[in-house]
Amino acid sequence: MKKLFIACLGTETNTFSNMPTGMQTFAETMLYHGDASEKSDELFAAPLKVWRKRAEDLQADVIESLAAFAQPAGVTVRKVYEDFRDEILSDLKAASPVDAVMLSMHGAMVAEGYDDCEGDLILRCREIVGPDVIIGVELDLHCSITTTITENANVVVLFKEYPHIDAVERAEEVFELSLAALRGEISPVIAVHDLKMISMWRTPVGEAANIVSHMTELEGTDGVLSVSLAHGFPWGDVPDASAKVLVMTDGNQNLAQSTADQIGAKIWSLKDETHPTGLTIDEALDQGMEAANGPVVLADLGDNAGVGAPSDSTFILQRIVTRGLKNVLSGIYWDPVSVRFCMEAGEGAEFDLRIGGKVGIASGDPVDLRISVRKILTDARQPFAGSFAPLGNAVWVSAANDLDLLLCDNRCQTFHPEAFTQMGIDLQAKQIVVVKSTQHFYSGFAPVAAEILYVSAPGAIPMDFADIEFRKFKDPYWPRVENPHT
Ligand SMILES: [Zn+2]
Repeated sequence: MKKLFIACLGTETNTFSNMPTGMQTFAETMLYHGDASEKSDELFAAPLKVWRKRAEDLQADVIESLAAFAQPAGVTVRKVYEDFRDEILSDLKAASPVDAVMLSMHGAMVAEGYDDCEGDLILRCREIVGPDVIIGVELDLHCSITTTITENANVVVLFKEYPHIDAVERAEEVFELSLAALRGEISPVIAVHDLKMISMWRTPVGEAANIVSHMTELEGTDGVLSVSLAHGFPWGDVPDASAKVLVMTDGNQNLAQSTADQIGAKIWSLKDETHPTGLTIDEALDQGMEAANGPVVLADLGDNAGVGAPSDSTFILQRIVTRGLKNVLSGIYWDPVSVRFCMEAGEGAEFDLRIGGKVGIASGDPVDLRISVRKILTDARQPFAGSFAPLGNAVWVSAANDLDLLLCDNRCQTFHPEAFTQMGIDLQAKQIVVVKSTQHFYSGFAPVAAEILYVSAPGAIPMDFADIEFRKFKDPYWPRVENPHT
């Protein structure tokens, strides 16, 4: 390898969200023009760092282009996507000829006029570099795999873990497989098995963990190069929304397909055990209050910013207040208006604050509380995936019954206990801690939680997959139909 081209472009698009994804969201999340591998600690910049180091170890030139990622929200503005894409393509043209192209992307990015942004970008890269240059791609497992992707990339590797703790390992694999292909040591071919399912897999535990182990065991044996499970993204209405198994082998298409089919059959047979379940709000609050020890951590599945939700819904908060439950902590609420009022008033101030319920119908009604401002922190942040996720200005407010709330003005899901403890909040003293997250909270909170409960609260992220109002995704799928494979 003499010359490697690397870039990153992505977001996870909740096509049902009413929040547009435009330039400001990219600028606030991750936006670098050629130096992300030096300057960014974002999850999707991690592959760029790996690829740069590995290539430079081989004395290869590295041409680094755009690295842009947006906190998930609604459909990306057309011009924003096209300008980013064209920046990468013009950099690639200028850098050509190159030996390999490596792209860090999400796999569920939708822009106005583009249901498959990743496929669009990979195809256009292929048109520039021609058929012989290796294109390696790393995707989030919440992706939609299309034939445009698999027919135009040589190497496609997905995260295996949810929470996403393995971006670096997967980046190493993209590099090694792409390098071996470039050297003619392997000829990767890709096969896909369509599971015809909409589901989620919490990979740290249970049968989902066993599925990951099984996939990993198959790699490196009998010419199987890589095995991935594309979980799909349930709130992205695109024609290829369903979950898929993706297998790469060394030149053996039949083996790739039979392996993908075999893994698909195993995953299908475990669908009931792995399908995510959630308690009602009151069930979860009852269990949390009855627990002998806190903190019982409740995950608000309905309002995860990382899935494109507003992170200001109040359905659980409303029940906590109405029931008068004592000693509860909840966050992180994205509420720039409330944050502004609290900063204006200052620490120690007491006043009536209207909290949450502002972005849309999925946010519920705002909750009016008499609060005191306990702590204000500018440039607050929390650990995530080996780096830090910015919260902007964060404010801790307290209300009656020892109710503590964390508000911020940079929309972000609750990843880690430090989001609270950096404010001075004693997490261990709370009976219930409600976090707005689907699963990424798990790595950080599991070690400190007395118990973890998942709550199917109303909101922008409905967990009843049978009833999602798909229009573009037309295929029959489980759990809407019992057997979509017939
Ligand atoms: Zn993901």
